[in-house]
Amino acid sequence: MDKKPLYRKVNTRARGVFHHSGGDYRHQRNTKNPDAIGMKRGVERGLDYTPLFKFLLSKVGKPWSEVHSEAISRLDKEAPIYWMVSENNESADDYIRVGENSYYSGLYVDSNDTLHIAAPEIGPETLEPCCKCCTHTFNGVIFTKKFNPGKLS
Ligand SMILES: [Zn+2]
Repeated sequence: MDKKPLYRKVNTRARGVFHHSGGDYRHQRNTKNPDAIGMKRGVERGLDYTPLFKFLLSKVGKPWSEVHSEAISRLDKEAPIYWMVSENNESADDYIRVGENSYYSGLYVDSNDTLHIAAPEIGPETLEPCCKCCTHTFNGVIFTKKFNPGKLS
């Protein structure tokens, strides 16, 4: 079985990501001091949990107890699991945003211990990018809609 870690260390500066807001929250229109905002929110920049999110997506339909214990065994901490997975459908997010422009399906566990996608109707073709300078992805797939500046309020 593949026991590689479900996260990786990244040098975010060298990769040039987080240039707007640096956090796990939406683009801020006032980005005068994006680093300070990111720090204040306790955003952890050194680790990338993309492998975890892809792992969880690949386990949709599987028994959560097994998925959960394998995920924990391959993580440094448990919290990132719950960025994506909720205890039930009611509390699940339709989608989550990680970093600045990577979106993933929200997941939840049903009463039969099965992992599900909360909003299967949402995909890379339904969301709109919130800026034109970044490549926005959903579950690793680039958005098909283009940035529309007229839609910003
Ligand atoms: Zn951007």
